[in-house]
Amino acid sequence: MTEDTYKEPAPYWKGNANPFESMMLRFDKAAELCKLEQGLYNYLKQPVKQVIISIPVLMDNGKLEVFEGYRVIHDNILGPSKGGIRYAPDVDLDEMKALASWMSWKCAIANIPFGGAKGGVKCDPSKLSQSELEKITRRYTSALLEIFGPDTDIPAPDMNTNEQMMAWIMDTYSMHSRKTVTGVVTGKPLIIGGSKGRPEATGRGVMIATMCALEKKGVDPRDITCAVQGFGNVGSVSAKLLSEKGIKIVAISDVTGGYYNKDGIDIPKAIEYVKKNGSLKDSKFGSKITNEELLECDAYILVPAAKEDQITEKNANNIKARLIVEGANGPTAANADSIIERKGIMVIPDILANSGGVIVSYFEWVQDRLGYFWDEDDVNNRLNRMMREAFETVYKTAMNYNTTMRLGAYIYAIDKVSKVLKLRGIYG
Ligand code: NAD
Repeated sequence: MTEDTYKEPAPYWKGNANPFESMMLRFDKAAELCKLEQGLYNYLKQPVKQVIISIPVLMDNGKLEVFEGYRVIHDNILGPSKGGIRYAPDVDLDEMKALASWMSWKCAIANIPFGGAKGGVKCDPSKLSQSELEKITRRYTSALLEIFGPDTDIPAPDMNTNEQMMAWIMDTYSMHSRKTVTGVVTGKPLIIGGSKGRPEATGRGVMIATMCALEKKGVDPRDITCAVQGFGNVGSVSAKLLSEKGIKIVAISDVTGGYYNKDGIDIPKAIEYVKKNGSLKDSKFGSKITNEELLECDAYILVPAAKEDQITEKNANNIKARLIVEGANGPTAANADSIIERKGIMVIPDILANSGGVIVSYFEWVQDRLGYFWDEDDVNNRLNRMMREAFETVYKTAMNYNTTMRLGAYIYAIDKVSKVLKLRGIYG
C-alpha cells in the first residue's frame, strides 16, 4: 500500500447508528481492499450535491404548513443521476446520503449509465389527503426544476410514493418545459410512458439473483425452502416467482406478523388475501410467528424484503439460512457482516439483489426517449440478461479478492466509477 492509498480510519463508524454510517463501513472496507487512491476516496465518499428545500402547503383546513424536502446527488459520473423519492416522518439528510450512494453503486454494478441520487420529504403520508400529497409533490418538483431532467437527474418512486405521484412530477416538469417530458421520471403509470414489467421488476430480479446463487452452489431449487420477510411489492413478487421455480416458501410476514408452514404456503392465495384484506393479519397460512422468529426460522434461503437493519449483531448468530438475498435496502446492519461471514452464509447484497427495479427504470427511460415501447417478454428477457451479467461480475470480483459478495459488489462499483472518473478527468 503506498502513501497515497486509502487506509481504514480509526473506528469512527461504530455499529449501525444510521444508514450512512452502515454504508460507509462497507465502503471503507472495500476501498481498502481495492487500494483506492486517497483523492478518489475523498471524492466518492461525499455526494456532489445536497439540496434542502422548504415546501409550503395550504392544507385542507386552510392552515399553512411547511415541510422539509431533500434531494441528494451522490454522483453523475456514469451519467444522469437516478434515485427514488420517499415520504416519511423520519426522512433526514444522512439517510438520503446513504441511499444516494447505494444508488451509485447499484447502477454501476447493473451496468446502466446512471449516477446515484435520492430524495424525500419529511412528512407523514398517512395523515395527508390526496390533494395535500399532490400539492407537496408538485411544489417539491417545482423547487427542484433546475436539478431534475431526463439528462440530469431522474427521480422514481420509493417508500410511500407511487405511480400517481410520478405522474404529478412528470406533469409539473412538463408544464414548466411547455412540452410533455416523459423521461424526467420513471415508475409512471403504463399509459403515460411507464414500462411493462416495472411493477414486478425488483422481485423478478431477486428471483434471478437467487437462481444464479443456487447454480453456483449446485443446489436444486426443488430441494429447498425459503422464508420471506415483508409481503409488499418486493416480498410478494419474490415469493411468487421463487415458488414458481419449485422452492417451497415456508414462511412469510408483514408488519402485522408472520406465518410458518413447513409444508409450504400457497403464495398466489396469500397475494389474493392481502389484496382483499390489506395485510396478512388474521390469515391462516400457517402457525403464527413474529418477524424476529421468521428471520431465524429453518429455511435454506432468507429474503429480507421489508426494511433496513433487520439482521444485526444480536440475531445474526441465530440465523439458520445458508443463503440471504437482500430484497430490501440495507436489511443487514454492518455490524452483522462478520458474524454472517464466519457462519459461511452467502449473502447476495442489496446493491445487486434488488437492482431489478432500477434496471427496468432504465428501460422505461430508454423507451420514453425512443418513443417506442417493448412488450413484457422483451423487458423480462433483457432484465434476466442484465441481472445475470451483474451477478457474474460481482461473483468474479469477490473470488478475485477472496472476499464476500457484498464487498465484491462494492469493490466492482467503486473501481468502475473511479475508472470513469479518471478517464473523464477533473475539470477545473
Ligand atoms: P412495500 O411498502 O410494498 O412493502 C413493504 C412490506 O414490508 C409490507 O408488507 C409491510 O407490511 C412490511 N413491513 C413493514 N415494516 C415491517 C416490519 N417491521 N417487519 C416486517 N415487515 C414489515 O415496499 P417494497 O416496495 O416492497 O419495498 C420493500 C423494501 O425493498 C424497501 O427496503 C425498499 O427500499 C426496497 N426496494 C424496493 C424496490 C421496489 O422497486 N419496490 C426496489 C429496490 C429496493
